[in-house]
This record gives sequence, structure tokens and C-alpha cells, in this order.
Amino acid sequence: MKLPIGSIKPKGWLRRQLELEANGMTGHLEEISKWCKFENSAWASPDGQGQFGWEELPYWLKGYGDLGYVLDDEKIIKAARKWIDATLSSQEPDGYFGPRANKTGLEGKPDLWPHMVMLNVLQSFYEYTGDERVLPFMTKYLKWLNTLPGEAFGRGYWPKIRFGDTIESAYWLYNRTGEPWLLELAPKIHDHMQDWTSGVHNWHNVNVAQGFREPGVYFLQARDEKFLRAAERNYQTVMDLYGQFPGGGFAADENARPGFTDPHQGFETCGIVEFMHSFEMLTKISGNPVWADRCEDIAFNSLPAALTPDWKGLHYLTCANQVVLDRHNHAPGIENSDTMFSYSPLEVYRCCQHNVSHGWPYYAEELWLATPDQGLCASLYAASEVTAKIGDGSAVKISEETDYPFRDTITLKISTTKPVEFPLHLRIPGWSAKPSARVNGKSVALKAKPLSYTVIDREWKDGDVIVLRLPMQVTLKTWAKNHNAVSVNYGPLTFSLKIGENWTRYGGTDAWPEWEVHPSTAWNYGLVLNERDPASSFQIVKPTPNPSQGGEGRERARESAPFPGGVGGGTTLSTNPFTPETAPIQLRAKAKKIPAWKLDPFGLVGKLQDSPVKADEAAETVTLIPMGAARLRISAFPVIGIGKNARTWPEPKPPPVSASHCFERDSVEAMIDGLEPKNSNDHSIPRFTWWDHRGSSEWVQYDFDKPRKVSAVEVYWFDDAPNGGCRAPQSWRLLCKNGDAWKPVVDASDFGRKLDTYNRVTFNPVETAGLRIEAQLQPNFSGGILEWKIQP
Ligand SMILES: [Zn+2]
Repeated sequence: MKLPIGSIKPKGWLRRQLELEANGMTGHLEEISKWCKFENSAWASPDGQGQFGWEELPYWLKGYGDLGYVLDDEKIIKAARKWIDATLSSQEPDGYFGPRANKTGLEGKPDLWPHMVMLNVLQSFYEYTGDERVLPFMTKYLKWLNTLPGEAFGRGYWPKIRFGDTIESAYWLYNRTGEPWLLELAPKIHDHMQDWTSGVHNWHNVNVAQGFREPGVYFLQARDEKFLRAAERNYQTVMDLYGQFPGGGFAADENARPGFTDPHQGFETCGIVEFMHSFEMLTKISGNPVWADRCEDIAFNSLPAALTPDWKGLHYLTCANQVVLDRHNHAPGIENSDTMFSYSPLEVYRCCQHNVSHGWPYYAEELWLATPDQGLCASLYAASEVTAKIGDGSAVKISEETDYPFRDTITLKISTTKPVEFPLHLRIPGWSAKPSARVNGKSVALKAKPLSYTVIDREWKDGDVIVLRLPMQVTLKTWAKNHNAVSVNYGPLTFSLKIGENWTRYGGTDAWPEWEVHPSTAWNYGLVLNERDPASSFQIVKPTPNPSQGGEGRERARESAPFPGGVGGGTTLSTNPFTPETAPIQLRAKAKKIPAWKLDPFGLVGKLQDSPVKADEAAETVTLIPMGAARLRISAFPVIGIGKNARTWPEPKPPPVSASHCFERDSVEAMIDGLEPKNSNDHSIPRFTWWDHRGSSEWVQYDFDKPRKVSAVEVYWFDDAPNGGCRAPQSWRLLCKNGDAWKPVVDASDFGRKLDTYNRVTFNPVETAGLRIEAQLQPNFSGGILEWKIQP
């Protein structure tokens, strides 16, 4: 179980991250975001009227309040309180509260999604303050929810998928009030919301990161293991298809899309923090430390790089391989057009800008947990101080000193007014093969397997000291489903190539700048590994602590990057370890450049090709830094090979297909990507469209390397009636290349316009250098092609 908020005081680098957050965007969002202006917000007025009343304010407040609580920051707590007081005074007689527009927001029916987030705000507020208004308020609201028919929980795109959040809130309230009807509300929601128990049926990044856990939450009441297994299976399903690279996330740069699985795909910042929150919940519910491992993985390796080192800007998408953070369009290589990669504190990244707030505060609240045997569990390791009533109810304080994950030693010091007996549970991560512990200098026999909790149960006295060591080693992981690329780990940290970062301001204000980051050094390296013992190919470099050089280091850092992180010093404890200059650990390795590995036509790192890769370049020594410190990053590496197994990295070629026009979010290559459409309105695979050309005459063409004999083609039209603007064309014909001219194929069968199937056209066989489809679009409509096949 979670300890009451305020029991755990984060220290060290985690506290530094929280302070940066408080001094950065989250702490100042009221100045930056129009959704966080008290005078404009429907969340702030007692009658629920105001311009803005959707998710943004509760998203921000959810982390902002907790940020104040974990830092004991009076200013933040007071500012959050103003919003919470307004919310608490907005309840209607029937129990509904907040923005009135949401009550009829879905075609006259309530849009209940933003309220799910606000309930989290109130839960934390209550845990920290014990404010007596909260439980009656939530009771009244959930009672109102319980009067709604079951269908209400299956309505709307976002609420339907995310309603597990309210199940969690209902259990939270039940644990405090014991009102039995709450255990009727929860199954009613479960039965009518998106079914996450039978599998993953929605592939939106944040929906998955937040929704997949729902059966795990419902397990608390249902007590059927199948629900816990469903949460694990959902996770595995997604990661198996789309998470085949390091960093703990998956490829879904809005939605996961078949065929878009390379590490150059992105993971949304909202998804990073929601995944962390899901993993924290499932750690407690299941008691399975694998979820805590997963939480550390994404927290250390992905979250820091989603933000500027000073927390004054963030981006929408973080990728495992990402070497240019510019403001330009990268669609359809990633799904969304417009700015997705550069750093900004502004509304261009509206959801993440607000929602990122809860990442580190929630993490800090979960470092220590209460256990059912009246003990304490060190669940996520970070420097901290925890005070809790344990054993016979005595208040015990444990101070945790560590630079984990950058060092392997964790020292726990116990303070108690009298001796007290209680079990101390220590998480042994999955990568930790040989953990050891000493209590007051004497070694303790640990029967600890990787991925378990080891328990030291004894009478603890004031001043007792436990030293836990989780020795870390360099290990390699091979990503067989991504062309046998490898990633490099050291304990929970994954490493990235250190790439020179050139930061350029392009917008914003002096106080809140927007940044592009371009590489100033080469990034296209494959690793040269010692075949017999790959891990021995890496040399660990830990900067020698030297406090007297702190100042100089800081100066040096300022020259090369705009974010002095506080370099040097005797310990990483008070600094930001997540910058290239301040990373507390580095690796050195041998690597060779792969000249044919370049940016692709959409400005993304070129797709991985099969390893091992043949490379004639000279071997160089490269530096690897923790992935979380690398805002430009290569973390899924090709492996350099020798001998006949080594493959030549193919030079990128322009696609053989072209068109009279292609919509910027679609691609001509989609026609020949081999992905089979389910129907003509299939939005799950890439497509080609002539959008927004309407009613015009258009073409697409296929150029052959050398003349080919062809006798048939098959065309699968895209048609998004009734909502979209594309239809099968009014008519079309097929031309073949004849010297410099195009002439119609001879004796062609019917040029079909059928939907939901291939339209096959046969003609007199012809040897030609290319084919062209000429289409006359329907008046007022555009058109498109999902797949185009050519047959001899
Ligand atoms: Zn977002």
C-alpha cells in the first residue's frame, strides 16, 4: 500500500528533478497556459461557467499539487489549494461538480473523462491534508455516477477507454469509508467500459499506457487471477508488437501503426508518465516487482529526455533513435504532422505540457510502500527519508542514502525511539544476479533471486545501518525483431551514443524559450563487439569525485550547452545527472561509421537494417551516456560484423512510386508497403491520398529498375465515406511507359471501382519501364489508394 503523501521526502537527484520541475514549466504553468488562468477556467468558478473546462487544468493540478506536497513547498501548496477549494465549492445538489458544459459534453450526455483526473487531484489533497470536505464530496459525486445507467460508462472515445481510473478512485474511497455501494459501482463501470480483459482493442499511445492496467485494478475486487494476467498480457501484446527497442516505451507516435515499429518511431510524453503511473499501481496490486523494474526503466531512460534539462520545455515525442529535434513536419514517418520533436513550454504540446506534471511527484510517493505484514518495502530506489508507523505502531524513520541508479550501493539508516521488530522488504531487480547486504557491518545471508523481494525481519534499533549492494554489470540485449540491433545496459540504465548537441532558440520568450537541437557530431555508428564476450567490449568510466573542481566544470558545461547542471562535486546527489555534461557514468566502446545510414526522407533516423553490418570504415572510440541524459540519441545500435555473415547496409533509394500530389500526412510508399487492408476505410495502415485535391484528374506512377513484363494490376481504393472526403474515383485507366510517352494498356478488362476488395485489371502482356494510374476524381471528392499490386 501507498504511504500517506508526505511520509516520504525525496532527496538527491530525484529532489533536484522535482526542484527543477517547480522552478520550471509545471511550477509556472499558470503564467504560461491559457487553460490554467483562474479567471478563464470553468474549474475555478462555483457555478462551473468559464471558457476552459476540459482535461488541461486537472492534468496539471494532478502533478502540481503533489509536487508541492513532496517538496513541502508552501507556495505551490497554497496555489494548488485555490483551485481545489474552487472545485470543492462547485458541487451541485445531485453530486455533479465542476464545469457544467461537461455535463452535456457528449451529444447531451456527460463527458466524464476530465472528472477522472480531478478525482486524483482530490485524493492526493486528502492524503496530504486530511481535509474533511473531500470524502463527503467524492461520495456524493460517485453516488451520482452510480445513478447513471451502465451505458454511461461506455460512452465517448476517451472516457470509455479510461474509466478504469474511476474504478481506482472508487476503491480508494471504499478503503476510507467502507460504503458497500462503491463495490456495486466499480463492477458496473467495468462491465460497460472498454473491455481490456479480452485484449488490446485500441492502439492510441496514451489510451494503452493508461488503459491496459484496468483489469489489474479490477482484480482488487474480483480476486480472479485472470484479471492480473490480462494486464500482463495487454502489456506483453503491445511491447511484443511495438516495443522492440530500449527505453521502456513503444512505437506509437499518436497511435501504434502496423509497419511502424523501428526505434525512430516516437512515444508520447503523456504516455511516459501514464505508463509510470500504471506500473506503480500494478506493483502494489500484484506484489510483483517486475512492474517496479518497468517503472524504473521508463523513468530513468525516457522521461528525462522528454524535457529540457531545466524543465522549461518538453516535446511530444521521444524516440529510442532520434538525432534531430527540429520543429518541422516529420509525417507520415511519424503519424502527426506539425511540430513534435523540438522543445517548447507552450501550447503546441497542450496535453503533455500539463500532464507531465505527475511523473516525478508520483514516483517520489512510491519509493517506499507499506506491506501487509506491518513492515516497509523499499520499492523504487532513490535517496529519501521515510517516516511510517510500523511493527507495533511505533514511528520509525529510515534515511536512504544512494546515488542509485548511477551507483550500486544503497545505505539505509534506521531512527527509532525504541527497538521495534518489523520486516524490511528490499526489491531485488531482475538484472541483479548477486545482491548482498550487511547489517551494522555484518553480512546477512540473502536468499534473493533476481526479480523478488528479500526480507530482513528482526528487531531494529536506533542507528542500525543496512548496506544493500546491487552490483551492476554491462549487459547487451539483442532486438531480434528489429534486425538484431543491440542495446547496452548497466543495471537499470540503458546507454546511448553521446552525440554533440547544438541548441538553437527558435521561438518563445527569453524566460520561456523554444529550442531546436541538431547534432554536431556523427551519429551513424555500429558497435564493434568482442564476439566471444560482447559485454567486455565496454569500458566503464566514472568521473572521479572532486568537489574542488565543481566550479570549473560548471563553467565548461555552460559553454557547450545552455543548461548548467552543476557539474563535478563529490557526489551526484544535488545535481541533475541527466545531461551529457553531468552524466555520472559513461561507457567507452569501439564503433565504426556506417556511411549509408542516413536520415530518411521524413527527417527521421534511417530504419535499422540487418545486423551484423559490413563496414570498411576505421574503428573509432565512442562514448556512451545514460539514455535519459541523451536528448539526441542512438540507443538501438547496429552491430558491425566481419566475414560472410556481415550484410551491406543498403544505400537509401528514392521510392519507385510517385504521384501528381500526395497529402502531407500520407505517403506514396503506402501503396506498395505490402500491408493488407481490412476494408476500404481501414485507418490502421498507412495510405496514399490525393487529398485535398478534389474533382480533378490525378495520377500515380510506378517506375521499374529495368523493363518488366506485366499483364495485370490490382488496386485497393481508399474510401472514408461518410465522414471523410475520399471516394473511389469516378473513372480510371492504366498507362504503360513507351519511351518518353505514356500509352493506355491494350485489351484491358473492367477498371473496377469496388470497395473493400482489390480491383483486378488484366490486359495484353506488355514489357514496360513503368505503369501509371490515371484517375478522374468524383466531383467535390478526393481519392486514395491503400495498396497497388503489379503482376507479370
Ligand atoms: Zn500528451
